[in-house]
Amino acid sequence: MHTYNIAVIAGDGIGPEVLAEGVKVLKEVAALDGTFQFSFTHFPWSSAYYLKTGKMMPDDGIDQLRPFDAIFLGAVGSPDVPNSVTSRDLLIRIRHDFDQYINLRPVKLLKGAPCPLADVKREDIDMTFVRENSEGEYAGSGAWLYKDQPNEVVIQNGVFSRKGCERVIRYAYELARKEHKTLTNISKGNALNYSMVFWDQIFAEVGKEYPDVKTYSLLVDAASMFMVKNPKRFQIIVTSNLFGDILTDLGAAIAGGMGLAAGANLNPEKKFPSMFEPIHGSAPDIAGQGKANPLATVWSASQMLDFLGYPQWGKKLIAIIEDLLVEKKVLTPDLGGTATTSQVGDEVVRKLEETK
Ligand code: NAD
Ligand code: MN
Repeated sequence: MHTYNIAVIAGDGIGPEVLAEGVKVLKEVAALDGTFQFSFTHFPWSSAYYLKTGKMMPDDGIDQLRPFDAIFLGAVGSPDVPNSVTSRDLLIRIRHDFDQYINLRPVKLLKGAPCPLADVKREDIDMTFVRENSEGEYAGSGAWLYKDQPNEVVIQNGVFSRKGCERVIRYAYELARKEHKTLTNISKGNALNYSMVFWDQIFAEVGKEYPDVKTYSLLVDAASMFMVKNPKRFQIIVTSNLFGDILTDLGAAIAGGMGLAAGANLNPEKKFPSMFEPIHGSAPDIAGQGKANPLATVWSASQMLDFLGYPQWGKKLIAIIEDLLVEKKVLTPDLGGTATTSQVGDEVVRKLEETK
C-alpha cells in the first residue's frame, strides 16, 4: 500500500479547528479507497511558536518539510505578531522556497451556496484563477530610505522574470487547452509600465503556441468590475501575485464566502512538496468557538487528492460539499446553519461512508 507523507501546519486561530476536519476527511478517503494511506506529521509552527522562539519556523524548517509529499496548511496570523512576519516568514517563504509558482484557486458557485449578486445563475460563476505565486509584487524586494526623516521614502519592487512569467502563463494556456475553456489575462499595462507591459508581451508570445485557445485581456480594475457585473465572461484566468490575491477574495465573496474558498500552491514538476490551504486567514473574531466553516479546507483536501492522482476522490468531496449546501441541515453559521466545525466534518465523513 502506498503511503503519502503529509506535513500538517495547522497554524493559528481557526487554522487548527478546520485542519482537524480536513485530516479526518482525508483519513476516511484513504480508508475507503484501500490502496493508499496518509501519514500526518504535525508541525507547531505558528504565532504561538514565534512568541516562544522569535521565529515562525526553525532555521532548518524548509529542510524538514522537503521530504513530504504535500503540506496541508490551516492559517497563520495573530493580533500579537505583525502580519508581515506571520505571512512572509512562513507562508510566502514556503511558496517561494518550494517553487510553488502556481496558485490554483477555483471560484465556482456550487449548488446551494449563497451568492450576493442579483440575476446570476449558478453556472455563471465557474472560473479558475491561475495566480503567479513565487515573485511579482510579493518578491520582498525594496528599500526603506531616510527612516523617520521628513524626506522618508519606501520602495516596494515587483520582480517579474521571463522564466517566472512564462511558466505561469504557459500553465494557464495548457489548462485552458485541456479543459476547452477561454483564457483571460488580467494585468495593468497602462499604469505599470515595466512589469505589466512585460507580462502582457509574454502572454502574447506564449499565446502563439496556443492558437486553439481563445483569449481576452483585461485591466485589473475593469476585471474586478466585470467579476461582479458579468462573471460569466471568465473561465480560466491568469494574473500576477498581488492581483490574484485580491481578486480571489472577491471571487470568494461571490461564490459562497470565505468559508468555501480553497487554494492549491503547486510545484507542478513535483520536485518539491506542494501546499494545500483554505484561502481564509485565522479569523480571530470566531476562533475557539466551533463556528469556523471547514468546507474550504475540505475543498483544498480535494485539490490535494486531484494533485496526488485521485481526481475521482477529489470530485466526490466536491459533490459532498454541494450536498451539504443543498440540504442546509449541517452548516456553520456563516452559511446560515447552527452546526459546529466538527459536526460539519463528521457529516462529510458520514456521506463518504454512504458512498461505499
Ligand atoms: P480572515 O480570512 O481571517 O477573516 C475574514 C472574515 O471572514 C472574518 O469575519 C472571519 O470570521 C471570516 N471567516 C474566515 N474564514 C472563515 C471560515 N472558515 N468560516 C467562517 N468564517 C470565516 O481575514 P482577516 O481577518 O483579514 O485576517 C485575520 C488574520 O489572518 C490576520 O492575521 C491575517 O494576516 C491572517 N491571514 C492569513 C492567511 C493565511 O494564513 N493564508 C490568509 C489571510 C489572512
Ligand atoms: Mn489573501
